[in-house]
Amino acid sequence: MAFVITDPCIGTKDSSCVDVCPVDCIHPRKDEPEFATASMLYIHPDECIDCGACVPACPVAAIYDSPESTPASQRGLIQANAVYRAGDPDAVARAEAIVKAHMGSHAELMGIAPAERAAAHAK
Ligand code: SF4
Ligand code: SF4
Repeated sequence: MAFVITDPCIGTKDSSCVDVCPVDCIHPRKDEPEFATASMLYIHPDECIDCGACVPACPVAAIYDSPESTPASQRGLIQANAVYRAGDPDAVARAEAIVKAHMGSHAELMGIAPAERAAAHAK
């Protein structure tokens, strides 16, 4: 199990979760070169220790506590979290391609302001 970042992070990306994560498993950080162009942030599933600190820190409720609890509309992004690796251009590109595909196939969610998007996940 690991926590999963989903699409309210797109357009928010404020790094509040990075600031509270005790094991530095959320990337890209603001001091990493990929930050400027990343669509969202990603949690490394093998490094996450399931502490839960990131969930209340996120201002837009983008983080779910496991793949199983991630709503159906967000399931594709589980893989984006899984493949992203800071400093690995191919892995970064694969994760970003998954996010772009998600954005293209969920125009209805992308049309909602990030702060309201999580409320629409269950619909
Ligand atoms: S659950 Fe804890 S370890 Fe996992 S990403 Fe969130 S803050 Fe980091
Ligand atoms: S706190 Fe939420 S919106 Fe901000 S970077 Fe982390 S997951 Fe994205």
